[in-house]
Amino acid sequence: MKAKDVIWEPRLDAEATEWKERARAVAAERFAPLAEELDREQRYPHEHIETFVETGLSGILVPRELGGAGLSMVAICAIVEEVSAACSSTGAILAAHALGAVPLQIGGTVAQRETMLGDLLQGKAVSFALTERGAGSDAAAITTTALADGDGWRIDGEKIYVGNGGAAAHYIVFAKTDVDAGPRGITAFAVPGDAAGLVVDRYEDKMGIRGTLTSNLRLEGVHVTPANIVGEENRGLKLALQTLDLGRVSVAAQGLGIALAAYRLAAAEAVRRETFGKPLIENQGIAFPLADIATELSAARMLTYEAAAAHDRGERISLPGAMAKLYSSEVAHRAADLAVQIYGGDGFCKPCPAERLYRDQRILQIYEGASEIQRLVLGRAIGDSVRAEAAATVGA
Ligand SMILES: Cc1cc2nc3c(=O)[nH]c(=O)nc-3n(C[C@H](O)[C@H](O)[C@H](O)COP(=O)(O)OP(=O)(O)OC[C@H]3O[C@@H](n4cnc5c(N)ncnc54)[C@H](O)[C@@H]3O)c2cc1C
Repeated sequence: MKAKDVIWEPRLDAEATEWKERARAVAAERFAPLAEELDREQRYPHEHIETFVETGLSGILVPRELGGAGLSMVAICAIVEEVSAACSSTGAILAAHALGAVPLQIGGTVAQRETMLGDLLQGKAVSFALTERGAGSDAAAITTTALADGDGWRIDGEKIYVGNGGAAAHYIVFAKTDVDAGPRGITAFAVPGDAAGLVVDRYEDKMGIRGTLTSNLRLEGVHVTPANIVGEENRGLKLALQTLDLGRVSVAAQGLGIALAAYRLAAAEAVRRETFGKPLIENQGIAFPLADIATELSAARMLTYEAAAAHDRGERISLPGAMAKLYSSEVAHRAADLAVQIYGGDGFCKPCPAERLYRDQRILQIYEGASEIQRLVLGRAIGDSVRAEAAATVGA
């Protein structure tokens, strides 16, 4: 008899269910067995990219007319969750594909989509290069410039923490085309990975998701033309923020996967391990935190799948996406912490998977808008809504 999971399950349509099951099977067979090795050796899994192509996972963000699966955001979340539960690094690689694909879905020309989403289908990633040394949360503070040069622009600057950088076929680079216009002077350019003047010169040595590539990108005199612009000139920051709105739902799905993996480890160990003549779970001091995590994980799933469904209905998801990312990443943190605690000394030592998950989850509260930035977005919205209501009352 299959045990019923106590965690709340989203109601998926037939297509999302089929993809979730396919992702679970592929992840169990191919991704989970290598998770510990990728972490230990800090190795990018090229073989998993081949698996993405073979199984269609490389096409989940690619529209059907270009040969992809053109999936709903709900289905994408279900897949990212399954893959992340099996291997946090592989889930992060898949989720980072969204960061490169979404700007093209929103603002790409037909030719750009055909080329770059076509390449993504073949496993060649598009990277999203926004962050700089002096501009992370404050993205408008970037100093990379794209100054007029002949029939186009010349890009100079440095981008840090570029996900999939070095393995990508293309980079969406955000640069200032009007240095005096602040946030309204930034443009997104699609730059080929082999462009003259573009160099990946360093890879970060990270605490977690060590199977992913996080790279330093140097741009020196990279020539681009109007054909390279993604979206509209000087409207790149808006495109970046729209992309991050959706990317945050993918990060929330990563959080669900890691939280689920940690919760399952913690629950199994609590039943297996006996102290003072009885299993750990017979103590309320262990059972109650497990119950809390099961409840929080269910709530995180509700927030995440509802944000994804709202996107699929065509609604704006800045606020539900911020809540989903904020909560899911923090639940992943608490779940991994509990797993370490329940494993005791083993939980502090390699190769205990709880130890790896504890390190892997940490990035979720930082990238694609740190927890503080999600709270900032939500806090501003609260103020705006109260003020709007007060103004409406005065006007009534
Ligand atoms: C593994 C990894 C992968 C990444 N992938 C990508 C990628 O693919 N593409 C890309 O462009 N970037 C990527 N990033 C960059 C990432 O998005 C940034 O690191 C993140 O946005 C935080 O920016 P920062 O590091 O500059 O921190 P800062 O902006 O300097 O913030 C430092 C701390 O201060 C807090 N803080 C900042 N401002 C405020 C405020 N007003 N009020 C309260 N608290 C505040 C932040 O929340 C944070 O905790 C990646 C980073 C990592 C580590």
